[in-house]
Amino acid sequence: MALSSTQPLTLGDLKGLGVEILKDVGPKRKDALETLEISSVLDLLQTYPRRWIDRTNEARISDIEVGVDSLVLVKVINVRSVRTKSKKMMVNVSTGDGSGKLSVTFFNQPWRAKQLEPGMQVSVFGKPEMRNGYLQMTNPIVDLIGDRTGKIVPIYAQSEKVRIFTWHIAAWVEESLNRCVARGFAETLPETVISRLGLVGRSTAFRDIHMPESFVARDAARRRLAFDEVFRLQMVLVARKRALERELRGFQHRVSGSLIDRFTSSLPFPLTGAQARVIREISEDLVLARPMHRLLQGDVGSGKTVVAVQTMLCSVQGGHQAAIMAPTEVLAEQHASSIRQLLDGLQIPDDTNLFGDRPLCVELLTSRVTGEARRKILTGVADGTIDILIGTHALIQESVVFSRLGVIVIDEQHRFGVEQRAALRDKAIDNPNGSMPDVLTMTATPIPRTAALTVYGDLDVSVLDELPPGRTPIATRWVNGAESEKMMWDEIRKRLAEGQQAYVVCPLIDESEKLEVASAEKTFHDLQAGELKSVVVGLLHGRMSSSEKEVTMNAFRAKKIDVLVATTVIEVGVDVPNATAMVILDADRFGIAQLHQLRGRVGRGAISSECYLVTSAEEPGPRVQALVATTDGFELAEIDLDLRGEGAIKDTRQKGRSDLNLASLRRDRDLIELARAAAFEIVDADPLLTSHTTLRDELELLLTEEEIEFLFKS
Ligand code: ADP
Ligand code: MG
Repeated sequence: MALSSTQPLTLGDLKGLGVEILKDVGPKRKDALETLEISSVLDLLQTYPRRWIDRTNEARISDIEVGVDSLVLVKVINVRSVRTKSKKMMVNVSTGDGSGKLSVTFFNQPWRAKQLEPGMQVSVFGKPEMRNGYLQMTNPIVDLIGDRTGKIVPIYAQSEKVRIFTWHIAAWVEESLNRCVARGFAETLPETVISRLGLVGRSTAFRDIHMPESFVARDAARRRLAFDEVFRLQMVLVARKRALERELRGFQHRVSGSLIDRFTSSLPFPLTGAQARVIREISEDLVLARPMHRLLQGDVGSGKTVVAVQTMLCSVQGGHQAAIMAPTEVLAEQHASSIRQLLDGLQIPDDTNLFGDRPLCVELLTSRVTGEARRKILTGVADGTIDILIGTHALIQESVVFSRLGVIVIDEQHRFGVEQRAALRDKAIDNPNGSMPDVLTMTATPIPRTAALTVYGDLDVSVLDELPPGRTPIATRWVNGAESEKMMWDEIRKRLAEGQQAYVVCPLIDESEKLEVASAEKTFHDLQAGELKSVVVGLLHGRMSSSEKEVTMNAFRAKKIDVLVATTVIEVGVDVPNATAMVILDADRFGIAQLHQLRGRVGRGAISSECYLVTSAEEPGPRVQALVATTDGFELAEIDLDLRGEGAIKDTRQKGRSDLNLASLRRDRDLIELARAAAFEIVDADPLLTSHTTLRDELELLLTEEEIEFLFKS
C-alpha cells in the first residue's frame, strides 16, 4: 500500500488501491472479487457486514442446557446426507468443540452437505435437545466464521459460486484496516459538525463497523458512516439548489393587486389555514428575482387547484402567461372546467382597451383539439392573448410557443418524466429577457418528509396538510367471504336507491392490460346480471377511446349511470361528489398509494362515504389494514415506507441513488434532517467548497455524473 505519504488517506486514495495488493489475492481471487463488485480497497471497506455474531454469549457444548437457545462455536467433524423413510433429504453433521459433541440435523436443506466440510469452524445457534443420548440441534442458524477471533465476528455476504467466504473478506478487511492505521482516514466533516452531532471519527468508524469491540461501538460507527452517505447526497442536492438560485434569473411577479384581490373575494369559501400558508410560501418565492421550484404535496381533495390558480394569476397580473400541465386528457379537461368555474367573470386590467379591462382568457389544449381550433389556440399562446393555458403533454410540443410564460404548474408530477418537465421549462425560457418561469409541481401522492428531502431535496416543499371543512371521513372496511360481500351489495343498493352513485374497481393485472380489460368486462357483465340487476351499470377501461371514455364519464356525472365499473383509469382526479361508495375488488393486489388514490374518488361531498376492500385471503393484508386504519395520506406514506422499505422511495424518482448503502430512510430519519442542515451550513459559507477539497473530491468520486451535474461549477 502506498504509504510514502503521511497525509491521512482519502477515499480516493483507497479507490486507487487495487485488491491485488492484499495478501493471498492473486489473479483468480481478483476476478472472483470483481464479480462481487469489489475491485479496490475502498470497495472492500465499504462492503459492510450483513450481521455480527456476538461471541460473548457463546457457550461450550458441555455447558449448554437442553431446551435453551444457545450459541456454540464448533468444528465440523463429519457430514452425511441421508434420505428418510418419507423420502425427505436430511443432512447429518457431527461437530465438537473439545468439551463435547453436538449432532446437527438439517431437513430440506440438501445444500448443507456441500456447504459444510470437515475441519470448518462454524457458529451454530439453536435449541439443543437430547436424542438417543446425544445432544442435537435441528435446523439451527449456522454461520461459517473460519478461524476468526474477537468477541464480535462480522459476517459478510459471501459467494459459494466464486468461493469467496466471509472469513476471506474479514481477513482482507482486517489487513486493509491495519495498513491504514499509520495514516488514518481523512476527515471530510468540519470538526464543529462532528462534535455537535456527537459523531465518531472516520478512522474509528471504519474500524468499528467491521471489527467492533462492542455493539455500542458498532452502532456509533454505523451512525457515522450512514451520516456520511446521507450528507453526501444532501450536499449535492443543496448545492444544486443554491446553484440554480444563483445562476437563474426569474420573473419578479406581483403577488398582490386587483386581480388577486378580486379572485380571493370571489371564492365561494374561505381558504383553509393550510391553503393560506402555502399560498404565502409560494408568494414569497414569486416576488424574488430567482425562479421558484417548489413541490406542493397535498392529499386528494386538499384543495390544490385553488393554490395553483392563485399562483398562475400572480403571473397573469403582471402581464405574463401561465400554464398547467396534467398527465391525462380527463384530468386536463377536469382542470379546465374547474379552473374556468373559479375564474368565471374575472376581468384583467388592459390599457389598450376602452374599458380598461378585458376578460381573462383561459384555453384548453390537448391532442383532441385539432384543425382551426388548435391553430387559434397556438396563435393566442404566441401573441399573448391567452393568459392561462391548460393541457396535457400537448403543451410541450414544438408548435406551442408562448409569448411570455411566467408560471408553470405541473400536476401529478410522478406521471411525468424528468425530461418532459425540463422540456416545458426550456420552452418557457425562450422569452425576450431569458427569464426562467417559476415552477410549481403538485403531487397527490404524499411521501414522508425525510423521503421528500432525499428524493426532492433540490426543491422547496410545501404541504397542504388540512382538508377543507365539511368533509365526512371515508369509512373503510375489509370485506371477505360470500356473506359479507352480500351485505356490502345490500348497503350499496340502499345508497343507490337514495340517488347516490358508486364505483367498482376491478382487479389490477400488472402484466397485461388486455387481461385487465377482460376481467373488467366480466365483472361488468356479472354485476349487471347479478347484484346490480336493477340499476344502470357503466364500464370504463383503458382500452376505450378517449371519446368513449368521455361519453361514459359524462353519463356518470349526469347520473345516467348508477354504478361505474372501472379499471384504475379512475385513479387520478375524477371528481363526482355524488359517488359515495367504492368497492375495490382483489384489493390486496394494489399498493398503498394506489388504494389511497382510488379511495379519494369518494368522500368528495357532504354525504358520508364508504370504501369496501374486498379480498379472498383469510386475513386482511398489511396494506388493507393500513387503509382501514387511517385516511391520512402522510401516515399511509410512512406505513408504505415501513412496509416496502427503500424501494418505495427509489421508485418515485428513477434515479441511481448510488451511495445509500448503510443509511436507511426509515431508521435514519433524524440523520437526514441533520445532514441537510449541515449541508446548507457548508454550502452557504463556501459555495464552491474551496476550503473543503477533500469533501469535494469525495463527492465527485462517489456520486454519479448526473448527481454532480450542477456541482460546484463556478
Ligand atoms: P385536490 O386537487 O387537492 O385533490 P381540489 O382542488 O380538486 O383538490 O379541491 C377539492 C374540492 O374541495 C373542490 O370541490 C374544491 O372546490 C373544494 N375546496 C377547495 N378549497 C376549499 C376550501 N378552502 N373550503 C371548502 N372547499 C374547498
Ligand atoms: Mg387536483
